[in-house]
Amino acid sequence: MAANHLQAARGARDISSLGRPDLLARAEPPAPAGQRNFTNLNGALASYPSPDKWDHWTEFESAQWPRKIQRNYMLVPTLCFNCEAGCGLLAYVDKDDLKIRKIEGNPLHPASRGRNCAKGWVTLNQIYDPDRILYPLKRAGKRGEGKWVRVSWDEALDDIAARMRKAMQEDRRNEIMYHVGRPGEDGFMFRTLAAWGTDGHNSHTNVCSSSARVGQFLWNGSDRPSPDFTNADAILLISSHLDTGHYFNPTAQRIIEAQMSGAKLIVVDPRLSNTAAKADIWLPAYSGTEGALLLAIARHLLETEQYDAEFVREWFNWADYLRAAHPGDEVSFESFIRRVKEEYAEFTFEYAAEETGVPAELIAEAAQAVARAGKRLSVHIWRAAATGNLHGWQIARCLYFLPSLTGAIGTVGGTGLASWHKFVPAHPNGAPGPKKWNELLYPPEYPLAFFEMSFLMPHLMKDKGHRVEVYFTRVYNPVWTNPDGFSWVEMLRDEEKMGCHVALTPTWSETAWFADYILPMGVATERHDNQSQETHPATWVGFRQPVLRVARERLGERFETTRETNPGEVWEENEFLIELSWRVDPDGSLGVRRHFESPYRPGEKITVEEYYRWMFENGVPGLPEAAAKEGLSPLEYMRKYGVFTVEDGIYEVHMSELNGGAEGAEIDPLTGAVRKDGQAIGSMSRGKPRAGFATPSRKLEFYSPTLAEWKWADQAIPRYEKTHVYWRELDRSRNEFDLLPNYRLPTLIHTRSAVKWLYEITHNNPLWLHTEDAQRLGVKTGDLVRVETEIGRFVTRCWVTEGLKPGIVAMAHHLGRWRLHEEMGAPRLASALVRLDEKDGQFQMRQIHGAEPFQSQDPDTARIWWREVGVNQNLAFPVNPDPLSGMHCWHQRVRVFKAAPEERYGDIEVDTGKSFEHYRKWLEMTRPAPGPGGLRRPLWFTRPNKPQPEAYKLPG
Ligand code: SF4
Repeated sequence: MAANHLQAARGARDISSLGRPDLLARAEPPAPAGQRNFTNLNGALASYPSPDKWDHWTEFESAQWPRKIQRNYMLVPTLCFNCEAGCGLLAYVDKDDLKIRKIEGNPLHPASRGRNCAKGWVTLNQIYDPDRILYPLKRAGKRGEGKWVRVSWDEALDDIAARMRKAMQEDRRNEIMYHVGRPGEDGFMFRTLAAWGTDGHNSHTNVCSSSARVGQFLWNGSDRPSPDFTNADAILLISSHLDTGHYFNPTAQRIIEAQMSGAKLIVVDPRLSNTAAKADIWLPAYSGTEGALLLAIARHLLETEQYDAEFVREWFNWADYLRAAHPGDEVSFESFIRRVKEEYAEFTFEYAAEETGVPAELIAEAAQAVARAGKRLSVHIWRAAATGNLHGWQIARCLYFLPSLTGAIGTVGGTGLASWHKFVPAHPNGAPGPKKWNELLYPPEYPLAFFEMSFLMPHLMKDKGHRVEVYFTRVYNPVWTNPDGFSWVEMLRDEEKMGCHVALTPTWSETAWFADYILPMGVATERHDNQSQETHPATWVGFRQPVLRVARERLGERFETTRETNPGEVWEENEFLIELSWRVDPDGSLGVRRHFESPYRPGEKITVEEYYRWMFENGVPGLPEAAAKEGLSPLEYMRKYGVFTVEDGIYEVHMSELNGGAEGAEIDPLTGAVRKDGQAIGSMSRGKPRAGFATPSRKLEFYSPTLAEWKWADQAIPRYEKTHVYWRELDRSRNEFDLLPNYRLPTLIHTRSAVKWLYEITHNNPLWLHTEDAQRLGVKTGDLVRVETEIGRFVTRCWVTEGLKPGIVAMAHHLGRWRLHEEMGAPRLASALVRLDEKDGQFQMRQIHGAEPFQSQDPDTARIWWREVGVNQNLAFPVNPDPLSGMHCWHQRVRVFKAAPEERYGDIEVDTGKSFEHYRKWLEMTRPAPGPGGLRRPLWFTRPNKPQPEAYKLPG
């Protein structure tokens, strides 16, 4: 497909007819070369200044109405940093005082198309947050004691660099770890860690999406889907995530477009989420029973012959399945269909209804909608059931069975692959992967984990004696976000095992409190990053940039670093990391420095400007040509517009013809597999050799030979497996419930959303409780309840509702921020001041007061009217690592009681000794490496910062 062809693909829906009759129609403003202007998307809306006016834009200040105060703006594009969608923003810089006065959407951005969610707008709050950290801080007392002194960047850099250098010289590179919560960028940190030679990339993936990822990856070699929602006839979501969590704005607007064009929205969720409330068919299945429901739909497709037989014959690895599972059978497609029908024969609608608690007629209605949609079936799972349940990855396997059966893989309106639609440009001066494996991140017990066993870090360090010399946390708050946060407190306080903790963060957090250094990093308008996401069937690259630096450079000033234009001494990570790397290896003897040298000035330190100049000149196809048409360099183009569409209308990439055809290859006459030197390189389809999928067989692996080889043969095909919170095993007479703690709210996102506009909307996370259960417990909305987990308890208020199934309780996970100091430790408008008592691993937290008004340079902080700010339930959760995917299975078996008179809102008690025992219990379920060839992990499995092949061999 040619780059930048922006016309709709054949069969794609013309959404321009979805008019907005309330707005005046206007001509679409001009778009630059290689771009499309989305302001006129709905046929009528033209509410953005056209890009040719972004240098000079005048309008009246709306907040001053009815006075007419004229503002003269310069508009600078950047990207939102508040979830992983990377939506476009336009910062309105007042040319008179160089203040950013408002943030709106970037109408050129192909994913967000000028729109943002509430979390995008509050970037402005983040810039002017009165509690943000503006200078580097170093701890003065014991770690966690709360004593801080301001230090210079030089002092911090030299100390950290010296520790890293020593670790490298002593062959302890893997003791340098970088633990990221919100990456918001593509590739800079991978290449930095590769340059440092450490297998030290740690992430939050295993508390977020591991099971969803591995479930899809085993099918087709891509760990996320990328549905074409806009053109779908049916959308099946096992998640409320897309309409509330990340990818929220780009996906929600496309799902709504599809619904407006008549698509059926089917949502499986035991809770009436925002998404479920908008569904045509809501299927409130009991947690962990979703697999039964999905297999009933699959059975319906098979039994009624409503699957795409040609697609299944060409693309399923059915011969592998037959040879492994039914060696006596004739190896033919007909045998396969017969056997598959047998495999799933028990999954009638009636059986699924008994398991899920959803009426059989509703399941049948959903199945018929799926069958009717055929190739226009879009599906997605993220968080929700996959992250909640033991074997949640099998729920994802069952889900992707459906578009695979209907032939909806990569079609218009179907379910594409993230690897087709996410674009990562080349970076300058790359380095090979690390030479040594880090067992703290990828322990041998979890060879198939996606990815690092990040949330087990305290338990693994305690259990196996690991040590970390320099530990960077970057926009990551595990003490508050992860389960069992007090085990994190214990780990971070241990100065023997944890050499130096450096928190790279724009704001205070519960985790930064236990750091040695807090280094202030920029928010979305104060940093450089390249970012792309699989938001729709296209590839694009977005450019996050420091708005005031760009604005002032447009006015003719020049700066050495972004720090010079940011508030206080706030820096950006990229410049910090370049400088740190030079100080780690000042003479180049460690082999680090050369990866941070300028491609334009040999031997000299690369500037951040040169970094992106090189990327945009060399790593983004079509960009140099588009820029030239505008009379700009590629970097100037990206500075001006903030985004570039690399390719649009990307469908059915697996059908690309094999480069060089099948020359010198063997073609299996039975299955169409194309092999060279014993390796599958493609597959025949419609008479031609095609590239296929990124699996070892190049097929869709209905049967996973990898699982069979790695001791999981019993799970090699999509199966319905019972969860650890299976509803029939909960004893209602003992007040046992299944707690759903892993859903998001549309207005908040983890640590950084603790700002005034969002907290004014949402500042509490009561426990959802069904009316029947509330009557049984003798409580009503607003009453205090005690929730007992397997390692402790917490007290919160309940909210009585019929928006979830009886026997299930639910609590949003964003809230419950806490701090140990009146003025520091967490944003004051969003956190409770608490007292923390502790003895021998027994922790007790009690709230002293909640949010209160306070004086600051922002008059709004004196007007704070909310008091209770939620309860940090995660502290009381034990770790539940899924033995295959490594996912923390978030759902909890809890007991709920009316609170006793002495119990208070926000009380939390935890025993970390019990939590360690719980970790050991779940560890027993694993099936450790080695796999075939003595390997630690299948070589074809992806992982960030992939080590060199020799590191995969398990010693001994
Ligand atoms: S969806 Fe995510 S990236 Fe987009 S505006 Fe909202 S928070 Fe920002």
